[in-house]
Amino acid sequence: MTPAGRIETLYESRKDGINMATPTVDMDLCIGCGLCVELCPKVYELRDDKAWVIGPNACDTCDCQQSVDSCPVTAITME
Ligand code: SF4
Repeated sequence: MTPAGRIETLYESRKDGINMATPTVDMDLCIGCGLCVELCPKVYELRDDKAWVIGPNACDTCDCQQSVDSCPVTAITME
């Protein structure tokens, strides 16, 4: 299989939900700024000033990478 073929296969696997990482929020670190909710509203919801993951596989734009990169206290990790 060519490298391009391997990448395509990996992409298809992720689309099917296989080996797909999901976001986790460290509640001790979260300051409730709401940025992740603005970026990925299908994935996060603010409850009592903390971000909760309500749709771990629901991001249809960036696989939550934008929220991970943008969280000011690095409270979001992908596992
Ligand atoms: Fe909490 Fe980070 Fe989301 Fe802000 S971006 S609400 S600090 S998890």
